[in-house]
Amino acid sequence: MRDFDLLVIGGGSGGLAAAQRAAGYGARVALFEPKRLGGTCVNVGCVPKKVMWNAAELAAALEHAPYYGFDVRTGGHDWAKLKQGRDAYVQRLNGIYERNLDKRGVVAVRAEARLRSTTELVDTTGEVYRAKHIVIATGGRPKLPAVPGVELGITSDGFFDLTGLPRRSAVVGSGYIAVELAGVLRALGSEVSLFLRHDAVLRRFDSLLSDKLMAAMRGSGIEVVTGMTTRALTREAGGDLVLAAVDGRSFAKFDTVLFAVGRAPNTAGFGLDHAGVALDADGFVTVDRYQNTSVPGIYAVGDVTGQAELTPVAIAAGRRLADRVFGGQAERHLSYDVIPTVVFSHPPIGTVGLSEQAARERYPGEAIRVYTSEFVSMFYALMDLKPQTAMKLVTVGADERVVGCHVIGLGADEMIQGFAVAVTMGARKRDFDDTVAIHPTSAEELVTMR
Ligand SMILES: Cc1cc2nc3c(=O)[nH]c(=O)nc-3n(C[C@H](O)[C@H](O)[C@H](O)COP(=O)(O)OP(=O)(O)OC[C@H]3O[C@@H](n4cnc5c(N)ncnc54)[C@H](O)[C@@H]3O)c2cc1C
Repeated sequence: MRDFDLLVIGGGSGGLAAAQRAAGYGARVALFEPKRLGGTCVNVGCVPKKVMWNAAELAAALEHAPYYGFDVRTGGHDWAKLKQGRDAYVQRLNGIYERNLDKRGVVAVRAEARLRSTTELVDTTGEVYRAKHIVIATGGRPKLPAVPGVELGITSDGFFDLTGLPRRSAVVGSGYIAVELAGVLRALGSEVSLFLRHDAVLRRFDSLLSDKLMAAMRGSGIEVVTGMTTRALTREAGGDLVLAAVDGRSFAKFDTVLFAVGRAPNTAGFGLDHAGVALDADGFVTVDRYQNTSVPGIYAVGDVTGQAELTPVAIAAGRRLADRVFGGQAERHLSYDVIPTVVFSHPPIGTVGLSEQAARERYPGEAIRVYTSEFVSMFYALMDLKPQTAMKLVTVGADERVVGCHVIGLGADEMIQGFAVAVTMGARKRDFDDTVAIHPTSAEELVTMR
C-alpha cells in the first residue's frame, strides 16, 4: 500500500492541471495514465487539429497570394510530411508533460487505475494506492452510431491516423469537430460531403454563426446534406464506401467516412459504481459547483463531467479544485457561466456568452437588444472573392450589459479572447462604445456598432 495526499485518474488536461497545482502546494500526488500523457487535447484533439487547420489556412493563403502580386507555384501538398511533422511535435509535447510531472514531484503511474474503495486505487499490476482525495479526470471518447458497418468508418481519432488525403470524404455530424475536420479536408483538396441529421451545423451556437458557416461551407464546395440519419455503411466491390440513410437515400463513392456525432464519457470499467459515485442519465459524473461528486473526497473535472467540454475548462476546474483542497482557498471554484470558445472552421468563429436565443430564455421579460454587423474584411479588397464577416452583440437590460459576443470571419479566432475579458467583467454596450477603435481591423467593428 502506497500512501499519497491525492490520486488523480487520467493524465489529460484536467488531471495534469489538478495534479501539478496540488503538488505545488506540497501535496504528495500520484497520477495514473496508461496512454500518452496530455490526453485528448494533445494527442487526438486541439493540438493536432490546430496543426491541420494551420495547413488548411496556408492552402487558402496560397490561393490568395497572387492577388497581392505573388507568382506562387507549389508542387502540391504532401500529407505524409505534414503528418510526420505533426506527430513529432505531439511527441515532443508528450515528453514535456512527462518532465513537468517529474519536476513537480508527481509520481506518474503509467497504468490504468481502478477504484477499490472510496480512498483506494489499484493499478493493473495489482499495486494499491491510498489517499484522502481522489480526482476523476478520465475524459471521453468519440461516440459511434449503432448501425451496421459502422466499423468501416473512422472517428476524429482515426482522422489523425490518416496517412494521405482522402479523395472523397463523408463527414457525419454537425458539431464543431465535424465542421472543423470537414473544413480541413476540403481546404487540402478532398471532395467533401457533410451529413447533418437536422438542418443546420452548430445548433447550440447563435443562429448567425450557424447560418453564415453553412453558407461559407457550401461556398467552399462542401456538399451539405440535411435531414440525413445514417442507417448503414457498406463497402462496394471496388472498395468505395456507401452511406445509406433511414429515408432510403444512399450516398456512394467515398473512400473515407468520418463519424463526428458526439463524445461519450469514460466512466465504465474502473469501479465508479463500486465506490458509489453517481452518474447522470448520459453517464457523466455528477458534480456540484466545487467539482465534488456524490462521494466525499472524490472529485471529477473535465470532459467526464460533461460541462463545456474544452481544454481550458478542464484545466481551470482542475487548478481551482487543487487551490480549494490544498491551497486553503475554501470558496475557489470555476464558474461555467461565461466560457469563450473558438471553432476552427473556415472562416473561424469566436464566441463568448449567450446566443440571442439563450439570452431571451435566460432573461424572460427583460429587454434584449441585439447589434449586428456584416462586412467584407479589407484583406479581400483586392480579390474577386468577397467572404462576409459577421458579428453580433447580445445585450440585456436598460444598461445593456453585453452577455453575448459572436464573430465569424477572418481573425475571429484571435479576436475573441480580449472581448471575453470584457464580457466576463460585465461590460456594458457603452463600455464597448467608449473604447477607441483600432484601424484598420475587423475587430474595430465590435466597438463601433450602432
Ligand atoms: C478532435 C478534437 C478537437 C478538439 N479541439 C479542441 C480545441 O480546439 N479547443 C479546446 O479547448 N478543446 C478541444 N477539444 C476538447 C479537449 O480535447 C477536451 O475538452 C480535453 O482534452 C478534456 O480534458 P480531460 O482532462 O477532461 O480529458 P482527456 O484529455 O480526454 O484525458 C483523459 C485521460 O484519462 C485517461 N484515462 C481514462 N480512463 C483511465 C483510467 N481508468 N485510469 C487512468 N487513466 C485513464 C485517458 O487515457 C486520457 O488520457 C477537442 C477534442 C477533440 C476530440
